[in-house]
Amino acid sequence: MTSTGTTSPDVRRATTLAASAIDLTKTYGSGETAVRALDGVSVGIEAWQFTAIMGPSGSGKSTLMHLLAGLDGATSGRVFLGDTELTGLSDKQLTTLRRRAVGFVFQAFNLLPTLTASQNIRLPLDLAGQKVDADWERTIIDGLGLSDRLGHRPGELSGGQQQRVALARALVTRPDVIFADEPTGALDSTTGAEVLGMLRRAVDEWGQTVVMVTHDPNAAAVADRVLLLADGQLAGEILDPDADAILAAVRDLGKAL
Ligand code: ADP
Repeated sequence: MTSTGTTSPDVRRATTLAASAIDLTKTYGSGETAVRALDGVSVGIEAWQFTAIMGPSGSGKSTLMHLLAGLDGATSGRVFLGDTELTGLSDKQLTTLRRRAVGFVFQAFNLLPTLTASQNIRLPLDLAGQKVDADWERTIIDGLGLSDRLGHRPGELSGGQQQRVALARALVTRPDVIFADEPTGALDSTTGAEVLGMLRRAVDEWGQTVVMVTHDPNAAAVADRVLLLADGQLAGEILDPDADAILAAVRDLGKAL
């Protein structure tokens, strides 16, 4: 991670980047049908913060998240996860880095249906050939209220429980960044609020860094910082947001979410 080298937690907090992009562009297709999904985005994602990415449909939110997470390559520009530059890494190097440094939470949970909750949670460790840190695993399983669900398969769990298993799976490797793509999109508002509370807790109590794409101003209001995208460009940011400020900013973009 980029830091000033000081040991003061406050200074490190202010200066450490978990991920960053410099003049990032991404073009899909070529010729007349080419779509410029990202158009010169430079941004730093601060460590130990909860950052939400918002913007109208098609503004480049998912593309930015995929590039920051090393799931897809840029057309031009540079991407860093911590101090590691992703641009130019081979697919194999990217896979190894992702397994170590990144956790994912998806709208559709993406749990493996034949595995129990416990096996789903340990999957990233198994894939990476890493040993489980039993104390850490117990902390997240208890903290997410999953202790009595570990033997259940996803089909035997509610949507909220499945998303909590997915969050435990994202947390189990203690990644540098958790990327969440519309994590409450498939949940009712009460269950969604519960999951958002757990993401918040992952940041506040467990020292994680969360980046979340959402179109829901109430969900984004849980974040420390909201990045606004429009037409593939950074269109603003809101610090310590509330839902009203987010709605007003989105209205200023002049487009519906
Ligand atoms: P958002 O997440 O804000 O809805 P996306 O990042 O998904 O926006 O998309 C940004 C733009 O890039 C859109 O115009 C979309 O149609 C286009 N796009 C995204 N992925 C692809 C792809 N794989 N092939 C072609 N165009 C794409």
